[in-house]
Amino acid sequence: MIGTGILKGMAVTLRNFAGSYFEKDRLITVQYPEERNPLPENYRNFPILIYDTDDAEAGLRCVACKICEKECPPQCIYIIKSDDKKPDYMGKPQFYPKVFDIDISVCMSCQICVEVCPFEAIKMDKDFELSKRERFDALLFRKEELSKSNEYYHRIHPVEAAAVDANLTAAAAAAEAKKKAAAAAAAAKPATPAPPTPPRGSTSAPGEAPPATTKS
Ligand code: SF4
Ligand code: SF4
Repeated sequence: MIGTGILKGMAVTLRNFAGSYFEKDRLITVQYPEERNPLPENYRNFPILIYDTDDAEAGLRCVACKICEKECPPQCIYIIKSDDKKPDYMGKPQFYPKVFDIDISVCMSCQICVEVCPFEAIKMDKDFELSKRERFDALLFRKEELSKSNEYYHRIHPVEAAAVDANLTAAAAAAEAKKKAAAAAAAAKPATPAPPTPPRGSTSAPGEAPPATTKS
């Protein structure tokens, strides 16, 4: 019969309308912005830079390797590498970004920068309330605006952040174990015996064979 689909649709709407007075799950709208639905774990918007400790500058994980800049499809990342180095999260001296900008008016949220980063330094934010009245520079985010703590990362992506922390801890432990094994191997190596001392009056240097004597 023509119109059966419309009638079925209206029946579902009517059931949800009446049911929403008794079951909270049937109430599918919220009074935004006063009320907000929780975002799913995998929701993503624009990239952020993660730092450890309380110091956004010293704790920044990014080492300015520029892989993300090269791989970003619309080329909206701009990095200038530092001239000096600072210790990374494992205490290894590394370069850092003197400048790290992302033009989020161009970013297409593809997450390729996150996938290619070898240092777990760039992740996707969930903040979507970023509209601005200005047309140009307001959406060009600088390093200071992009930098977010690891605690913030844990708040927005708890499962993913826990997995990243576990990876970083395992990598640090493996590096430490390798360092200890190399030190132990160096200590166990037998010492090189001292070269023989030449007889008194000899012109040979220590370790050198004495000159051959000729018979008359
Ligand atoms: S999410 Fe995609 S478009 Fe945006 S900065 Fe990363 S690589 Fe570029
Ligand atoms: S965010 Fe990652 S890939 Fe991009 S420059 Fe920093 S360390 Fe390299």
